Amino acid sequence: MDALWQRVSNRVRDELGQVGFETWIGPLNFVGMEGRTATIQAPNKFFRDWVHDRYLDLLRESLSAEAGMSVNVMLVVDNQNGNGHGNGNGNGHHNGAARPTAAPPPAINNPAGGREGRTQLNPRYTFAEFVIGSSNQFAHAAAQAVANQPGEKYNPLFIYGGVGLGKTHLATAIGHHLQAGRDRPRKVLFVPAEIFMNELISSLRRDRMGEFKEKMRRVDALILDDVQFLAGRERTQEEFFHTFNSLHAERHQIVLTSDKAPRDIAGLEERLRNRFESGLIADIAPPDLETRVAIVQKKAALENLQLAPDVALYVAQNVSSNVRELEGCLTRLAAFASLNKCAITVDFARQALRDLIREQEVKLDIDLIQKRVSEFFHIRLADLKSKKRTQHIAFCRQVAMYLCRKLTDSSFPTIGDRFGRDHSTVIHAYNLISRRVSNDSAFRHSIEKIERDLKNMRPDAA
Ligand code: ADP
Ligand code: MG
Repeated sequence: MDALWQRVSNRVRDELGQVGFETWIGPLNFVGMEGRTATIQAPNKFFRDWVHDRYLDLLRESLSAEAGMSVNVMLVVDNQNGNGHGNGNGNGHHNGAARPTAAPPPAINNPAGGREGRTQLNPRYTFAEFVIGSSNQFAHAAAQAVANQPGEKYNPLFIYGGVGLGKTHLATAIGHHLQAGRDRPRKVLFVPAEIFMNELISSLRRDRMGEFKEKMRRVDALILDDVQFLAGRERTQEEFFHTFNSLHAERHQIVLTSDKAPRDIAGLEERLRNRFESGLIADIAPPDLETRVAIVQKKAALENLQLAPDVALYVAQNVSSNVRELEGCLTRLAAFASLNKCAITVDFARQALRDLIREQEVKLDIDLIQKRVSEFFHIRLADLKSKKRTQHIAFCRQVAMYLCRKLTDSSFPTIGDRFGRDHSTVIHAYNLISRRVSNDSAFRHSIEKIERDLKNMRPDAA
């Protein structure tokens, strides 16, 4: 049993990411299987509701896949443990304070849904819930163009980018838009590439290829998620090639997502690569700080979670790799705040998330500061380090000197050297800017913004 749960856990972890997994699945207790029903215990009602609303399908699918049969999941509250923990998640759920242990656990029973779940459009992944920033605005615009004129302009649309950056979200948003179609609702099929393959294999085995082809081709739009999965799978690629051609010839929209650009997918047949490159290719990059803050705020609002601006900033500053992890942090904050019944401050967030985020100490050096300050003020790096004395350049140089002193261990003479100046010039600059920082709040905000940008840079971006 433990081995089964272990395998299920691994699957779920792949899907949710480490943070989401530790927050929501780690605390669950797998009680066992009876016939086709798996019983899983949650530490309290808040957890049970949360897991039920978001992860039940995933648990059921993973269990079914690992057990080799369709499994029902019964989610129960662990009464021994659940009592005494209040519940104030702001959604109006209340945990009757002291439920007698004898009371039957509230069970949520779900009929096995097979693998259907994953091929449905996730209701949360809409355009309305997508936050636009410079890292994704091109992909977003492309997705909207396709949603508004399917099959006409960009066919296929190929969206690629790193893990958890919103590829599936955007592709799904196109699907929702088309399904709801104002002029006419369109038939949309969303298929993870892995499922395309699994269904293909099972259709071949059962001699049902006719049905399979029909299902894949009789749609107005086909979204194939994570096409990189097709790499090296010849039979599946062959079939998808024909599916693609058939849809394309009918001017039906095809949307593809991948973690790499077509040319970088090793093991992808040349003819498919050509097809994938024949439409529009849009990439999504990791979001910058402003976008991350906006995402955190939007997600918090959607969860009815009160989040002070400094907390949103704290989370956004410390999680830069991917949006899914950002969400994981937020949901953990929500859970902790509800269990502890307290307001979320930066200190609280630091505590609650301490094992999830390592506060990044980017090692700043003089070169880096010079480079960033010149970029920030749109002047040439060479000018910053030159003897030029125009007012603007002299001012930028003073800011750069101030930041070098403040953010590195370098001495005044060392900094002076690197600007080709005397140490007394650096001291003068430092004093001047310090004074202005304390007297002029607008100025202080600009300087803080540069500092934040500097600290927030990922080392590899340097
Ligand atoms: P990918 O398919 O690229 O691995 P997903 O589309 O599954 O990533 O996105 C991961 C999570 O991050 C989802 O919950 C999604 O809603 C969220 N997300 C990603 N980008 C954005 C964004 N720009 N605005 C809002 N949510 C986003
Ligand atoms: Mg995805």
